[in-house]
Amino acid sequence: MTSRQSETPDHAGRVRIDLHAHSTASDGTCTPEELVRAARATGLDVLAITDHDTTGGWERAAAARPPGLTLVRGAELSCRWYGTEPSIPLHLLGYLFDPESPELVAELTRVRAAREVRGERIVELLRADGIDVDWAEIRDAAGGGTVGRPHIAQALIRAGLVATTAEAFAPHWLGERYRLPKDDIDVFRAVRLIRQAGGVPVMAHPRATRRGRIVPDSLIVELAAAGLAGLEAEHEDHSPAERDAVRALAAELGLLVTGSSDFHGAHKSVRLGAYTTEVEAYERILAASSGVGVLADPG
Ligand code: AMP
Ligand code: FE
Ligand code: FE
Ligand code: ZN
Repeated sequence: MTSRQSETPDHAGRVRIDLHAHSTASDGTCTPEELVRAARATGLDVLAITDHDTTGGWERAAAARPPGLTLVRGAELSCRWYGTEPSIPLHLLGYLFDPESPELVAELTRVRAAREVRGERIVELLRADGIDVDWAEIRDAAGGGTVGRPHIAQALIRAGLVATTAEAFAPHWLGERYRLPKDDIDVFRAVRLIRQAGGVPVMAHPRATRRGRIVPDSLIVELAAAGLAGLEAEHEDHSPAERDAVRALAAELGLLVTGSSDFHGAHKSVRLGAYTTEVEAYERILAASSGVGVLADPG
């Protein structure tokens, strides 16, 4: 036995739960192994691995989880709401779904393939403006993980054109000028597919106005009726007022509320466990799931 067991309370008597983190299976910089070890090292009791549009990191994270850490397997689905013009992209976290559910697998495969086409097109736009970045090199650097703009940002850094990932997301770079839409999943379909696979859908950073346009409350009301289980409130991209608004809406609709770091390693400055989820919300996610179970402390 080790001194630190699963769901061991911290000094304040709290179990520390972070339900949103990325690995090299998408646009994080820690391998799945490094991610679970770092989670425990930072004092987390529960971590969810939620790479963009893939379950590709699940096995490695599961095999490497250290004593004291419970792993929640999930993903962050690239979705879109087509009920307004132009349509609005949004992210849906899915937890504990069956990774072999055929329709869901087909959608994730389609979205990842579309991301490659889009990435290559963004590179073509850059090259047309005389910016020397190479698609094959960017794709190879992603190492088989889901490709995203952060990988293109690294190429801009390597080329000495920008100093940081954040700078690469400025409007005159990937934030706007060289931004192309992704071929996302209709958000109602995504909610249905996650539920159908026994998973639990939670909307990521629903009020993050600093990321771009956000969806109206009326859509969240409709999604709740369609099976959405919760809203992520505590997130670095939400202002205090936005967090309060999310909590109020969740309370009104009977949705659970989460808090998460959305850790991306060196691609962002936020640290693992910077925002956490209350045990009651975590338990509601477990109770609502029937796809795969959590992977408890191996130690
Ligand atoms: P994509 O999925 O290809 O559209 O890229 C979006 C990803 O880029 C997000 O998941 C974040 O990881 C990252 N990202 C978005 N905005 C920023 C930013 N301002 N600074 C750093 N990373 C960002
Ligand atoms: Fe990301
Ligand atoms: Fe997100
Ligand atoms: Zn994320």
